[in-house]
Amino acid sequence: MGENVRKLGPGRLIIASHNDGKIKEINELVCPYGIEAVSAKELGLNDPEETGITFAENAVIKARAAADAANLPALADDSGLEVTALGGAPGIYSARWAGEARDFGLAMRNVEEALAESGSDDLSARFVCALCVTWPDGGEAVFEGRAPGWLTFPPRGDKGFGYDPIFVPQGYDITFGEMDPAKKYAISHRAAAFRKLKKACLED
Ligand code: IMP
Repeated sequence: MGENVRKLGPGRLIIASHNDGKIKEINELVCPYGIEAVSAKELGLNDPEETGITFAENAVIKARAAADAANLPALADDSGLEVTALGGAPGIYSARWAGEARDFGLAMRNVEEALAESGSDDLSARFVCALCVTWPDGGEAVFEGRAPGWLTFPPRGDKGFGYDPIFVPQGYDITFGEMDPAKKYAISHRAAAFRKLKKACLED
């Protein structure tokens, strides 16, 4: 991981995501370096099939497809929740555990049921985020960030998204769903991965 790391120069950077919130967040990060984040959707690029078995592999697949199609550097992320007692599930299938309707109430009940079935009382879990930058001539770099913590049931708080209401980050007694979004962002798995990317690909 992290091979062929280079600086991202001024110009356009394709963001292989359909999430407008993520694109805005990334734009704020790269803007001071003369970089303009453009979404893959804006360029009419198709999503590749996510056939990887790790967050990093899926991030590479998405970023590589976008860089090749647009002939520009590209950035993709893949993230999810890993529960220790479930052998790391839902992991890369975090979105799929919410069903086609993307119902995270259902996804959180699925986690609670799977934990009960496992018979384990280990509630430790972590959010993981892999970010991948690819260059059109073949270079790529992957940065991984983690946020360790514990699960709690029933879900609490409506400030976040996804599995936030059942996740209490290490060192806190409130869930990500109850936490001020700016605070969550500062300690999240995504922020940890971004810090590594910034150091390697943006700062001098
Ligand atoms: P994706 O990488 O954007 O496809 O995200 C995968 C899934 O992981 C999301 O749909 C969420 O369910 C979950 N996830 C990733 N990051 C977070 C987070 O910060 N809070 C809650 N859920 C998350």
